[in-house]
Amino acid sequence: MSAKTKIEWCDATWNPVQGCTAISPGCKNCYARRIAERFRGTKNHPYEYGFDFRYFPRRLDIPSQWKKPKNIFVCSMSDLFHYEVPRIVLIKVFEKMLANKHHVFFVLTKRAERMANFVNEVKKTCRPEDINHIWFGVSVEDEPRMERLKVLARIEGINRFVSFEPLVGKIQVSEWEKYLLKMDWIICGAETGPKARFISVSTVNDLEEFTNKHRIPFFFKKWGNGIDNGSMPRQFPVFRKAADTVGTNPGGNPHNSLENEPAQVGGTVADGKEGE
Ligand code: SF4
Repeated sequence: MSAKTKIEWCDATWNPVQGCTAISPGCKNCYARRIAERFRGTKNHPYEYGFDFRYFPRRLDIPSQWKKPKNIFVCSMSDLFHYEVPRIVLIKVFEKMLANKHHVFFVLTKRAERMANFVNEVKKTCRPEDINHIWFGVSVEDEPRMERLKVLARIEGINRFVSFEPLVGKIQVSEWEKYLLKMDWIICGAETGPKARFISVSTVNDLEEFTNKHRIPFFFKKWGNGIDNGSMPRQFPVFRKAADTVGTNPGGNPHNSLENEPAQVGGTVADGKEGE
C-alpha cells in the first residue's frame, strides 16, 4: 500500500487484500510473490505470512483519506478476482471505489471471467457516470491467454485496458484485431528480475503499429535486460471520459461490434487450474 509507487502508469497502490496463487505462465516469476515471501516470518510485518491470502478491512478507507486525486492500482499485490477473495470483500472494495470518484482506479486481473460476472452485476445497479472513473483490465502474457481479452471486450459500457506485461510469448496481433479494437489503452513490457524471459520483438512491433493505426494509446514500459527504451511510446488515455463515451473505442471505429459473438463468460478456456 503506498501513496507512492514505482509503477509508471499509476501513482498509488491500494491493497485491501494481498496474496495470490499462480494461474498461468505469466505468474512464473511473480514480482508480488517475490517481494512478499522475502518477509515471511518477520513479526508484525505486513508480509509476515508471505504471499498467503489476507484481507485488511482497515485498508478499505485509505482512498477516502487521500484527498488529492490519484490514479490508483487496485491490488498490485494480489488479484482481486481470485476465487479466495469472498464476494462480500469484492462488494466492499467496489463500494469504496464508487464512493471515491475524485480518484481513478485500475483493476487488473488474470481472472477475467469472475471480473466480467461481477462487473455485469454492478452495472445493473449504477449509472455509467458512477463507474467512469474505474478502469478494468486483463493481464495477458501469450497467445492462449488472449481468451481473457475476449472476455473483457464483451463487457460493454466500461473503460477497458490490457496489460501485456510480462509479455513472455508471441501474439498474432492481426488475428485479434476486433478484440484489441475494444481496448481504450494497451500497456506492454518485458519481464524483469533475475530469471526474466525475453520479450517477443515482433509482437511489440505489431502492437505498436496496430495502436498507431487505430489511435489507441500505447504505453511501452520496457524491453528488459537493461535495454534502453529508445523512442518507444509511453502514451496515456484520457482517464476521465465523459459518461456517454465510456465503452466506446478511442480509435473511433463505429463498426466494431461484438454483439453477435457468443458469450463465453463463465468458462475457463485458457487459464490453468487455480493454484497450479
Ligand atoms: S495472478 Fe498476478 S499476483 Fe497472482 S500469482 Fe499471478 S502474477 Fe502474481
